[in-house]
Amino acid sequence: MKAAVLHEFKTPLALEEVPRPERAEDEVLIEVEVCGVCHSDLHVADGDWPQLASIVKKPLILGHEIVGRVVERGSAVQSVQVGERVGVPWIQWTCGQCEFCREGNENLCVRQRITGVTTDGGYAEFAKAPASHVVKIPDALPSEQAAPLLCAGVTVHRALKRASIRAGQRLAVFGVGGLGHLAVQIGRAAGAEVTAIDIAEEKLSLAKSLGAAHILNASNTDVVKRLRGSGGVHIALVTSAAKSAYDMAFYCVRPTGTLLAVGLPAREISFPAILMAAGEIQIKASAVGTREDLGEILAMGAAGTVHCQVSTRPLAEVGEVLGQLNRGEISGRIVLRLRN
Ligand code: ZN
Ligand code: ZN
Repeated sequence: MKAAVLHEFKTPLALEEVPRPERAEDEVLIEVEVCGVCHSDLHVADGDWPQLASIVKKPLILGHEIVGRVVERGSAVQSVQVGERVGVPWIQWTCGQCEFCREGNENLCVRQRITGVTTDGGYAEFAKAPASHVVKIPDALPSEQAAPLLCAGVTVHRALKRASIRAGQRLAVFGVGGLGHLAVQIGRAAGAEVTAIDIAEEKLSLAKSLGAAHILNASNTDVVKRLRGSGGVHIALVTSAAKSAYDMAFYCVRPTGTLLAVGLPAREISFPAILMAAGEIQIKASAVGTREDLGEILAMGAAGTVHCQVSTRPLAEVGEVLGQLNRGEISGRIVLRLRN
């Protein structure tokens, strides 16, 4: 099968013919239709995150927003049928037995396997995955719409759920990329008044068209002054990987409000404890999501509550796509199309 393969960190992916994955008895083989290109793929390919770099399989097929049809299933598989359309998310498998799995936080499983990191992902014509952890894609949701929800969508959905977002609250979304443009829609659907912040006018226009009540360009606006001037926000969600976004976001949170950490700058972030205490500011982080979170965001996609801004490209252009993503040139999400 055709695949884009990472051999060494910081080297371009090689387009190669490789053997089809061999599935185990509890796994399914999936003919990949589409696979989303996520910012994390860049970090994995560059070995940026020390915690992750040490567990990366090599050579590796990247890609953790996979949608395709089941073409084979192992003898132990009962939950999924051949021909069904399924998704494979970032979290490929969890143990079901560790403290976190038992508490309902399987996204924090200590023995988790990660798609496109510890096992091969979806920048290929076929992928395999444990049947227990693939998610069924609702019929009403086109594959290219579903793929970005498997990482970008579920991540912001869980984050906003953890902040208990409610109607009437003010939400600021820092960074209108793949995650941010979905967060704007989820916030709006929850009845929040959404302010979107970015430095690219094109991304801000997109946010406006998706229901942001206000847009602020951080390159020419004093964002902190503006948001504090209107009372501060109940929730500041940082999807941007820029440290400067965190430096702004913290100061925009109203007392009792929540700073949601989702974007991952390489450098450490810090805030004055005195201000955290004085305003009883909560800082919460969130990591992708559970199968339950996935079911919810896919249902929102099928209902039309969230609509991903997607453009599709062939696998052969993956190198160029990663370059564009690295330069911040992509509005919404790029999805690789492996087959029609
Ligand atoms: Zn991702
Ligand atoms: Zn576990």
